Amino acid sequence: MSEVKHVPAKSFLVKTGLGSDFACNPYVGCTHACSYCYARFMGNHAHRPEPWGSYVEIKDYPNYDIPRNTGEKSVMFSSVTDPYQPIEKTAKRTRAILEEICESRLHVSFLTKSALILRDLDLFSAMANVTVGFSIALDDVSASVLEPGASLPSERIRALQSLHQAGIRTFVFIAPILPGITDVFTILDAVDEHSDFVMFDRLSLKHPENKANIFRYVANRKPELLGLYRNVFENKDSTYYDSLAQRIRDRAQERGRDYRLFIGKGE
Ligand code: SF4
Repeated sequence: MSEVKHVPAKSFLVKTGLGSDFACNPYVGCTHACSYCYARFMGNHAHRPEPWGSYVEIKDYPNYDIPRNTGEKSVMFSSVTDPYQPIEKTAKRTRAILEEICESRLHVSFLTKSALILRDLDLFSAMANVTVGFSIALDDVSASVLEPGASLPSERIRALQSLHQAGIRTFVFIAPILPGITDVFTILDAVDEHSDFVMFDRLSLKHPENKANIFRYVANRKPELLGLYRNVFENKDSTYYDSLAQRIRDRAQERGRDYRLFIGKGE
């Protein structure tokens, strides 16, 4: 990776309508380099010629002031980058923000694909309201191709266990669910007892580069699934996700689990 640039940013808190009051994205870009990355469109805003996933920039803030009357509002780390991607090991921008806000009343949540988040357990333990989530949708073999810069799913699961054992509220986001590839129930067996709730979402291939990446992966590694992928993503057949959603609902009912679905009929 070329030299890491610093970019000025007005505030570490940005208002968002994505399920929380604020988003905090301490970096521009994400070297986890997921083949299906929904934040790929951000590459246009960064004015970088390199492919999305190959660079990261560090945001410099004038201060870490929390606006007045923010009180118990919610902040999500992050929406268009991963706050614990590899650069965080040395740059520690996410940790610097946490050190500033850990005594506030903000409701802070994380979504990451990195076991590095465990480093900041000392700060989470001091916070009034914190929730840590891991995205897990693949096994180690497929993740090493489709999420090459992220911690392996097995490492994420170990970090999840440690945080949950330490009393931190945790969740798992099984997303994006890749038809015929994501083994939802094996993941649930591994994470159920270490998470307070689990969320589920389908794969979206609206970005043409994401579609090309995933279809190439399926053609090369799982050619027997190509027909299914054409059916789901080109013919818009919802049968696969609808029936999966029903099986997940059945399991939630059987086990009394808090499962939150964004897939299937009526979602
Ligand atoms: S971790 Fe998230 S933001 Fe980073 S490349 Fe993967 S999908 Fe994109």
